[in-house]
Amino acid sequence: MLGKVLSKESCAKCGFCCSFRLKSLWELPKVSAEFAGKYTKDINGEPIEYAFGEQDGVKYAVTELQGKYRTDDPEEEVRCPFLDPECGCMLPDEDKPFDCKIWPLRYMKIPDGTYKVCLTPTCPEINKLDPEKMKKLVSDGLGEKIAEYAAKYPFMIKDYKDGFTVLQ
Ligand code: SF4
Repeated sequence: MLGKVLSKESCAKCGFCCSFRLKSLWELPKVSAEFAGKYTKDINGEPIEYAFGEQDGVKYAVTELQGKYRTDDPEEEVRCPFLDPECGCMLPDEDKPFDCKIWPLRYMKIPDGTYKVCLTPTCPEINKLDPEKMKKLVSDGLGEKIAEYAAKYPFMIKDYKDGFTVLQ
């Protein structure tokens, strides 16, 4: 979905958004319960643990990484179970979580109660671009697609966090 501004190659090489520090576990992609039923093993064939939840009546699952940290170092990163360190995400495009398809964009609930498409401040590749490019991409139709998806799958909405740029 961000192919106009981000190449698959640069994402695969980077992988920043596919490894998580403890404090960024809130960024883990939320997926449907069907997805969790289909993808039960990680790239090494080990079972994946999911935590399940429900938002506005729609069930979701999220990979359980909490128990995977080996130290108390807040910088320690744990990889998403679908990330191959050499090749990038091993999920087929059609099954890749929507959260991942649109990262570094996020659909967020702003303190005034409205919902906005926001830009994560930490993506190393997007930070190399003119922010106007992202604004244009969102206003050219991507923003509508994101809002439509969120209406169907409200679990993808995140609470606004300081530092995110509101785009639309
Ligand atoms: S599902 Fe794929 S794109 Fe999403 S965090 Fe995991 S490895 Fe990255």
